[in-house]
Amino acid sequence: MYNLILFGPPGSGKGTQSGKLVEKYGLVHLSTGDLLRAEIAKKSPLGVEAKKLIDKGQLVPDEMVVGIIDNCLEENKEAKGFLFDGFPRTVNQAKSLEKLLALRKTAIDSVLFLNVDHDELVKRVLNRGKTSGRADDSDEEIVRKRFAIYQRDTEPVANYFNEKNMLRIITGSGSVDETFQALCKEIEREK
Ligand code: ADP
Repeated sequence: MYNLILFGPPGSGKGTQSGKLVEKYGLVHLSTGDLLRAEIAKKSPLGVEAKKLIDKGQLVPDEMVVGIIDNCLEENKEAKGFLFDGFPRTVNQAKSLEKLLALRKTAIDSVLFLNVDHDELVKRVLNRGKTSGRADDSDEEIVRKRFAIYQRDTEPVANYFNEKNMLRIITGSGSVDETFQALCKEIEREK
């Protein structure tokens, strides 16, 4: 089993890089953002609840995403490993993930942090908003709010893993290919 967390602020390229990494390493991609948007598209009760929060730029409750991840782990028992994208986003989620993996006799192997400077991030997210159809990408006020929540709730997750000496910082400001090469190099060094 090889379990990887791809960590970083909104717009750092987690989604793009995750797609390439899961293909190369044969991992199951678990993006809580994508899973929540799938629930919204189905108009499930969970999706209806999540949409209200996501459109305002807020996080959905920990129990909600931890439940989704638990189901996905259960549905993919034969996986070679998982790539977690956009999860964990709070220290509480990080601790829950460690427990869920321990119950399945596995653990997080690596946390790769995509580092991109703030102005570039805002530019990328607003740019994505022009085509993604995501309400939370299009409104500058909401985007600003997401960064504030990232700083308050999600950055502590990086410190949490850094203290365990599991965090690896990768430069994410270059091209898609440069960033992908840098991620692969780090993964292969550790594997
Ligand atoms: P981005 O990385 O650009 O912020 P995501 O697709 O990962 O985009 O997430 C979109 C939104 O979905 C978040 O702003 C948040 O409201 C919700 N969300 C996604 N993952 C989580 C999570 N692990 N915990 C709480 N909320 C989440």
